[in-house]
Formats: sequence, C-alpha cells, structure tokens
Amino acid sequence: MPLETVTIPCLADNYAFLVHNSETGETALVDAPESGPILTALNDLGWSLDTVLLTHHHWDHIDGLTAILEVHKARVIGAAADAHRLPPLDVAVSDGDVLTICGEDMAVMDVSGHTVGHVAFHFPQTGMVFTADSLMALGCGRLFEGTPAQMWQSLSRLAALPGDTLVCSGHEYTESNARFALTIDPDNAALQTRVAGIMAARKEGRPTVPSLMSEEKATNPFLRPDDPGIRAHLGMENAPDVEVFAEIRRRKDAF
Ligand code: ZN
Ligand code: FE
Repeated sequence: MPLETVTIPCLADNYAFLVHNSETGETALVDAPESGPILTALNDLGWSLDTVLLTHHHWDHIDGLTAILEVHKARVIGAAADAHRLPPLDVAVSDGDVLTICGEDMAVMDVSGHTVGHVAFHFPQTGMVFTADSLMALGCGRLFEGTPAQMWQSLSRLAALPGDTLVCSGHEYTESNARFALTIDPDNAALQTRVAGIMAARKEGRPTVPSLMSEEKATNPFLRPDDPGIRAHLGMENAPDVEVFAEIRRRKDAF
C-alpha cells in the first residue's frame, strides 16, 4: 500500500508534508517551517512523529522544529554537508544513501543550487520526491549559494525520475512561476492548459503542490532548456543546455 501524504500550508507560502504508513502507524515530517499548523494536523489525524526530514538550512524550513520536538520524540535527519548549520541531527545523510522511512526505501539526492547541501528525499515505491526549493511547481529555487551548473545538474537528476513521480515542493509560488513561464515558452499548449488550471486553483485557494514530474517536464521552463521553441525565443539555438538554463534563471530573477 502506498504511503499517505498530507500537505500542510505554513507561514505565508510554505509547505510542510506528513508521510504516513497506515499499516505500521509510522509518520514522518518533511520540513518544519512553523510548529502550529504541523502540531494541529498531527493532533487532528491522531499521528505521532517518528522522523523529521530536513531539506536545507533556511529558517523557513527549520524554525518550527524545536517546538515540534517538545511534543514528538522524533529522530531528525538532514544533510551531513549542512550539519554545521542545521539543527542537531540524529542521522546525517549524503547523496546516494538509502534509509527505511515509514517502512519504505527513501533515497537521498544532493540537489545543490538554491543552497549548497540542499537534499531531496525520493520514495521510489510510493513514487514521490520532496524537493523543497530545488525543483518547484513550474519553477526552481533562486540560486543563493550554488552555480547555474549545480542547479542544472540537480534538476536534470530529478527530471530523470519516473514521470508519475509526485513532486512535493516547498512553496506556493506557482502563480508567479506560471506568469513567468508564459514569457519563456509562450507557444507551449501544455503550459497554457496548465496555467489555466493553476489560476483557477489559486482563485479558489486550492494548493497547486504537489505536481507530477511528467507535467513539470512538459511545462516547467527550467527543465526545458533543450526545447527548440524556447531556444529560438531566447536566440540561443546553439548554446549548451546549462547556458540556456542560466539565462532562464537570470530572467526569472529580474521578472
Ligand atoms: Zn530555501
Ligand atoms: Fe524556502
């Protein structure tokens, strides 16, 4: 039976996620932007935390942890490379590590770019990946620490996961990402259809996260620097993918 996922809106536009195995009763939390909504959700569901997975060191992904650990005795897992600037870790992990979380394999992927040391958590059996501020719905995280080449490599590895993988990303930035995507890839019919759905969802206050890897590959401009239409639009027909990616990221920073 696949793991259950619950999306919890936090702060102004963050998402935390609960992962739950209904057979064993185990529960994991991915990121801790603030304690209130997460503790309320756990209480309402009657679940207690066994594990907290931290994607990266930014305050809007870790600040709720201390208050959560006062109520739930959970082990905290994060990147070994970031142990010096994450809350105290019980398990420090690196790219390629495979752990058992809620009874399923969970593979750690280094997805540096937004920060150096950012990790994603991939659950191949259920088919979901927690990407926080690396791959986002119709977007990707800003490059605060890493280079375009690092982010491009991270996104390429994520895009190689199966198309039916659920992409659980860290922010509700999709409406602004959608407006930007249309400026880069205006003739993409799949993008136009997706944007209409996003605008309708946001009008009704519904989350646009998680999304599907197949729809990201078809519509997310940051995964499509090899697309002839995008290249022609940018006048970069013969540039390497990484340079096209860097130009799209530069334009988003100024958008
Ligand atoms: Zn961040
Ligand atoms: Fe963030």
